[in-house]
Amino acid sequence: MAVKIEVVESDHDKIRVRMKGVQRSYANALRRLAMNYVPTMAIDEVVVLENSSVIYDEMIAHRLGLVPLKTDLSRYVLPEDCDCENELGCKKCRVLLVLDTESTKPKTVYSGDLVSEDPEVCPTSATIPIAKLPQGRKIKLEAYAKLGRGLSHAKWQAVSVSVLKEVDGTSDFELFLESVGSLTAADIFREAADSLRRNLELIASKTKELK
Ligand SMILES: [Zn+2]
Repeated sequence: MAVKIEVVESDHDKIRVRMKGVQRSYANALRRLAMNYVPTMAIDEVVVLENSSVIYDEMIAHRLGLVPLKTDLSRYVLPEDCDCENELGCKKCRVLLVLDTESTKPKTVYSGDLVSEDPEVCPTSATIPIAKLPQGRKIKLEAYAKLGRGLSHAKWQAVSVSVLKEVDGTSDFELFLESVGSLTAADIFREAADSLRRNLELIASKTKELK
């Protein structure tokens, strides 16, 4: 049967793709790859220089890790794929975001207070609360964002929803993806399809090497 891929609905954060003539196992592989394998940027390391808030350093680091960051996969590589071999990373495999804030009166610190060295890699939402600061307190920290995959930690998951269903009365499948906002839903689908292709090519080439 001829393979047909049709986009049923699509906006920045959501995509519904109908697949005709695609085996369930491949359709399901796309669902899993979208969830576990498509990389996104997330804050992975936090160096706290000053923290007189009432929240522990670890808790602030944890919250920062969960802030979705806008991701450009054409400009950054996964740390394990980078040629810098530097534990601290380089311009191709990490981005520095700085948080430096003081309170003259009680206030909440938000994701939007982070200042990124790359304006293209910034929180997708400026209104995610990080900490409450009583009057006269301070937080100063450096946060390092890196590309990662959902399979190593949920903070790198590109999608909040990845569902495959059979279309009634047909052998078609529909894959529905909802992005956390780091990448467009269409980019996530393309990336998932691309990693399926790369995986199959790798298997094929390794098989050829067998005697
Ligand atoms: Zn590097």
